Amino acid sequence: MTRNDCLALDAGDALAPLRRHFDLPAGVIYLDGNSLGARPSAALARAQQVIAQEWGVDLIRSWNTAGWFDLPKRLGNRLAPLIGARDGEVVVNDTTSLNLFKALAAALHMQAGGAGAARRVIVTERSNFPTDIYMAQGLTSWLERGYQVRLVDSVDELSGAIDADTAVVMLTHVNYRTGYQHDMRALSAHAHAHGALILWDLAHSAGAVPLALHADGADLAVGCTYKYLNGGPGAPAFIWVPKHHQAAFRQPLSGWWGHANPFAMAPDFAPCDGIGRALCGTQPIVSLALVECGLDVFDQTSMAAIRAKSLALTDLFIALVEQRCGAHPLGLVTPRDHARRGSQVSFTHPHGYAVMQALIARGVIGDYREPAIMRFGFTPLYTSFSDVWDAVEILRQILDDQTYDIAAERGAVT
Ligand SMILES: *Cc1c(COP(=O)(O)O)cnc(C)c1O
Repeated sequence: MTRNDCLALDAGDALAPLRRHFDLPAGVIYLDGNSLGARPSAALARAQQVIAQEWGVDLIRSWNTAGWFDLPKRLGNRLAPLIGARDGEVVVNDTTSLNLFKALAAALHMQAGGAGAARRVIVTERSNFPTDIYMAQGLTSWLERGYQVRLVDSVDELSGAIDADTAVVMLTHVNYRTGYQHDMRALSAHAHAHGALILWDLAHSAGAVPLALHADGADLAVGCTYKYLNGGPGAPAFIWVPKHHQAAFRQPLSGWWGHANPFAMAPDFAPCDGIGRALCGTQPIVSLALVECGLDVFDQTSMAAIRAKSLALTDLFIALVEQRCGAHPLGLVTPRDHARRGSQVSFTHPHGYAVMQALIARGVIGDYREPAIMRFGFTPLYTSFSDVWDAVEILRQILDDQTYDIAAERGAVT
């Protein structure tokens, strides 16, 4: 494999033209779309329109005239096909942390009556993204009454940890650190066989890997729009409640946006029918509106095409790092098995933080996660095969020449 081979792969890549829908600075190879997606070119004009026209000129009328009020549902319907959901099942709102709280509380409530009444345990992984665990811990410690979080140490122990006490299994489909992808269908079936509900966090899956929430038997799901969906920093998250669970879905953040008739200004809460009951309060409209610019790009391709290129990019990256940096103490953390891999590749290095800082200084932007993990995200909409070659070449130079500073100061965000 040579750089020319990579250029030939780019020339034959049907997704290559989509890169022009993103504004990336010259000289940057961006391998961190798993943390903050790149900016769709259209976002600048859309922000200008929302701020100057919809807010500046039309003012409060825009809740109706610009469709602000319906935006969480309209964007939810646009996002739905990417995750194997249906119309009227997704809203874009709040944060992933908040949506996890709502979904977990609703799932515990669904179990609290009848046969599920004795179920008081939320099963999740110790390696899950911390906020997922923290939200579960916060909820169970406030509920008391014997509710608790059970942290499982490995995938092999997961099935055995789901038992007659389990109310909800809460898993992140693709692990943020390792890129390991769970078998959603098998684990959902296993949870159901033991009478538990299963809640999937799709933060590192939506827009990255094909998803079939209905076919795979998921009960509830949440996820981010600012990672692979390119919605913008801090863009609102999403929550999926399938039609068959909506009537039983009662969540405690019962704000007026989830009310059956919010402008009746009634003193008592009554949830609306449908997915609207997952809403809480007023959304950050400027940020929410930009989510659409990211979703628009997905209309021009398919998740199958994205997945095929993602696997080709991650295979190439693994192969080139192993060939060209093989003399260095790098450890592959991400599964080689395609079925178990998300759209990122993680390598450990004893000086992972310092090496990543040196890469970033040379324009190869990935990130670092404890312990010693360098994380590289691959986003087929704007990453090319020659980007992969160039990134590995810069990594090779940094490692061979040891041009990294092991005393590098850490920023607040790594
Ligand atoms: C990125 C990520 C989050 C982020 O949650 P916020 O509420 O948006 O800060 C949550 N969970 C997982 C698994 C993530 O990867």
